[in-house]
Amino acid sequence: MRLLHPGSVSPAEAAAAMNGLRRFERFGLALEEGVLDPKDMKNVCEVKYGEKLHRLSSEDLIVADNFTFLIESLSIFFHEKQVYGLFLMPARIQLLDDGDSSFRMGLARSDGSAMVSLSPIRSALKGEEAARAIAVFSAHEAGHVLGKSNHCTKDDCIMKPNDGGEKTFQHFLGQVKEICSDCMSVIGRHISKSRY
Ligand SMILES: [Zn+2]
Ligand SMILES: [Zn+2]
Repeated sequence: MRLLHPGSVSPAEAAAAMNGLRRFERFGLALEEGVLDPKDMKNVCEVKYGEKLHRLSSEDLIVADNFTFLIESLSIFFHEKQVYGLFLMPARIQLLDDGDSSFRMGLARSDGSAMVSLSPIRSALKGEEAARAIAVFSAHEAGHVLGKSNHCTKDDCIMKPNDGGEKTFQHFLGQVKEICSDCMSVIGRHISKSRY
């Protein structure tokens, strides 16, 4: 899995996201980091949904809907990519779903790539708290990418739903501790099945 971010993301923020992903290394997942550079797109082009997420990474506000992501899923059949991506972005993410609109901490496609939004964390948290939040949301979105496509029902599991967007993300952080063993088993099986 490749962590990708623009130069405006600080080394501390990138390190926090990487810390969130390290729990998956035990299953043999390789982790790497790359800075987004419009002049050198190799980093991006090797990643599933890379070009799409790279285009979005320069936006201040991302308005996404399920349709946008569904269209992208067709292209994967014609253009198989090897590398899972996690895009760490300053942007806010607004999700439109059946006429409803809400803010999200991230978006993910199972067996694809994901993005995590730094904007709500930056405006509400500092230092260690911000680092933990980045790690938790990176782990949550990466968990979806790595085969845990639905949410967990356990209150302290990082894979439980976080539908309230930025209004309740601090409440979510207060409740969750780790990814539970059931969710980790699903993720572990997915990673070991995968050829990458
Ligand atoms: Zn989720
Ligand atoms: Zn769980």
